Amino acid sequence: MTLVPPGSTIGIVGGGQLGRMLGMAAAQLGYRIHVFAPASGPANDVASAFTEASYQDCERLAAFALACDVVTYEFENVPLAALALIARETPVLPGLKALEVAQARHLEKAFVRGLGGRTAPFAVAEDIGELVAALERIGLPAIVKTIRLGYDGKGQAPVRDMALAREAWDVVRGQPSIVEGLVEFTHEFSILIARGHDGGTRLYPPPWNVHRGGILHRSRVPAPPEIAAQAAEAAALAERVATALDYVGLLALEFFATADGPVFNEMAPRVHNSGHWTIEGVETSQFENHIRAICGLPLGSTALTGARAEMENLIGDEAAAWPALLEEPGAHLHLYGKDEARPGRKMGHVTRVAR
Ligand code: AMP
Repeated sequence: MTLVPPGSTIGIVGGGQLGRMLGMAAAQLGYRIHVFAPASGPANDVASAFTEASYQDCERLAAFALACDVVTYEFENVPLAALALIARETPVLPGLKALEVAQARHLEKAFVRGLGGRTAPFAVAEDIGELVAALERIGLPAIVKTIRLGYDGKGQAPVRDMALAREAWDVVRGQPSIVEGLVEFTHEFSILIARGHDGGTRLYPPPWNVHRGGILHRSRVPAPPEIAAQAAEAAALAERVATALDYVGLLALEFFATADGPVFNEMAPRVHNSGHWTIEGVETSQFENHIRAICGLPLGSTALTGARAEMENLIGDEAAAWPALLEEPGAHLHLYGKDEARPGRKMGHVTRVAR
């Protein structure tokens, strides 16, 4: 891969808060940002150029590719065909293989199993008959999740009773789904790994993640001993996944800490909500290392800047607390500039670092 030096233009496909924070890290290193998204969003405020077009618009995609020196993406539900079209002209990193695997829950689980990882038992269901058979095979309780386009607990239905199979099928709106056995875990955590084009990696201290209603509520480091005891095994798996995908950029893998060891849940081929605390909590944030990796720059240190760091998401109305958060010593406030504070919408986050 050729070096993309500061002063070059980085294309970001997707216009959300992850693109906004990537853009801020890129600007710090002297890059220009060009956002491609179907509608304006939080990333626009930090971009010097914006293409507002659909992911099916081949002409605009081609023009965007020509305008950028390297292209990355900030959410994994971009149609593969759109990125393949861009990749004809301009390098797309992380590569398309990572995106293809991460776009489908059954593919990513099978992929990780193939590399020796543990997952919940799972089965694919394409219609209600297959759903009932899958629930019988996996056993109850189970969770039904759409194979594609699910995030933040959307497109998911727990099933505790066979009589509720039909209801679960309605929740996933009859889309191809997987049935997963419910994992008994003590904690959830993630492994964040940055991999450069030379294959060198940097691992972040693994955060303990707590979810509320399927949405990440907070991430904390250092993680408690139950996670620390399993982190090395999970990190070794993450290294194997990154190598197998010939990955370049920041990769996130989510795990359950269980009595049997770490159980892989899902991966994201991008910067991740559970890594937002790295902006102030680590020498080189996940956003900066992603930019460094895709541009062929050396990766930066992932050492903690303090004794502890904790990130709390500001969901919906919680962002209205911003005046008090600004007064709080040690609190770093991030607001994403979204106008409407709908319930469940990520409006910002706050990171507290203890020195
Ligand atoms: P996901 O969209 O797969 O990340 O699921 C969102 C959240 O639901 C996870 O972070 C867990 O808290 C919970 N969850 C998902 N799958 C399972 C499972 N198989 N067993 C137990 N809890 C789960």
